[in-house]
Amino acid sequence: MKYLNSTCLIIAILAIWPQVSSSLTLEGKSLTILDPPKSFSRILSRKLKNPKFTLQVSETHFPAGTAARAEVDKTVKLYNSLPFSPIHITVEEAPHRSKKEVYDRSPGDRDYVILDYIDNNDPGVFPCHRDGGTSCSDNKEKKINGWSANSCKYKDHGGYGMCKPWEVTCFKSKARFFSVALNTHCRKHDTNLNSKDFPKVALLLHEIGHGFGMNHTPSWKKEDKSLISIMQGKIASLSATDAAFLYKMYGVKKKKFWDFEASPAVRYFGIKKKNGVETKKLVTKPLKDISPKELYFDRASAQFLQCHKNVAPKFYANWFNKSFKDAPGLKVVMKIKTETGILVIDKFRRNYPPFSTANWSSKVVIAEKDINLNGARKITGNFQILVDSDGKFTEVNESNNRISAKITFLSRKAQCSRKKAKKSSYNKKRTLRKKVR
Ligand SMILES: [Zn+2]
Repeated sequence: MKYLNSTCLIIAILAIWPQVSSSLTLEGKSLTILDPPKSFSRILSRKLKNPKFTLQVSETHFPAGTAARAEVDKTVKLYNSLPFSPIHITVEEAPHRSKKEVYDRSPGDRDYVILDYIDNNDPGVFPCHRDGGTSCSDNKEKKINGWSANSCKYKDHGGYGMCKPWEVTCFKSKARFFSVALNTHCRKHDTNLNSKDFPKVALLLHEIGHGFGMNHTPSWKKEDKSLISIMQGKIASLSATDAAFLYKMYGVKKKKFWDFEASPAVRYFGIKKKNGVETKKLVTKPLKDISPKELYFDRASAQFLQCHKNVAPKFYANWFNKSFKDAPGLKVVMKIKTETGILVIDKFRRNYPPFSTANWSSKVVIAEKDINLNGARKITGNFQILVDSDGKFTEVNESNNRISAKITFLSRKAQCSRKKAKKSSYNKKRTLRKKVR
């Protein structure tokens, strides 16, 4: 009898409990917490002698006030705002330099880093690429080794290039400086300041990351490959893994701080189709590109489906604990905020180990009642990821705790925007996958 009573009481409480948690159905939901890399040895290459340096950008291509320069400044700010790190980059304008000048083999006491466009057909020696190679991407059949951007280091002992096996001091030597070159043949921005194909934050972070001594993910240990990093590119921020590398290499002045981040990009298993065979492949994409952009209400299934795909939307999220400490009870919320209301997709409170990366993804069944269209044909909103959503932790950097991607809800399938027309062959050529080194 007593047992029955308490059951009734629980039911009664549940009935009057405010409906804070949504009744959304999450299909194939997964949350994985990835620790920092197991092995740093394969990830790190030659260290930079001084993590405080001047970055000379060519005034011809990156003058102050331009969009291209803003990307450089944002990149530098991300490196400079790594909490309690000795890394500090100062941006300075300098006259445009030729290939010969950038890769001068007698650089005197040069210690600054150069960012400039290089025409590899020009005279001089390109120490980090075959001279005359101007192709932007690889072509295996023609044995073409392409490059779109390149980071090239100069050693204190041994200068440019590989060390000879007997050159012990060369092997031990740190990099005194490096140069980031952009292939003039790959971007209209080289000759047109108004062109929008200037190098973006993700690419600049990647190239400077090489300068700091970080290697591409193919050289990482297998168990670390699922970690998101600037070394795969496509992430316009330093991930927990990147922060761990940089602290490992250059030290830290103080370890007692919190810093969490909602990642602007996600890493996940995508499906690759080749000759009719589907294989899983790890890919990185900016959140705004992978998030569902347009959903329409489908009467037959009584739920919102993704335009063109006609399936329930799949959402992805990555976030980081970029601290030397555990983050016990950190609350993370994923929600959709529209003009007419807030729909909580998922939320949890748990511990995140130091420099860990959280990977979340799920198919979400959104019913008619979940989104209030309010009689409108279309409402807009945002898919949001909020880290430390209750603000319980005091962080050194609170500005990176939220990231969002635009989402539109439509009342009918017919309102889905048309798929973009296929690009002309000329544009195709310009947007070939560019190779970065
Ligand atoms: Zn690279």
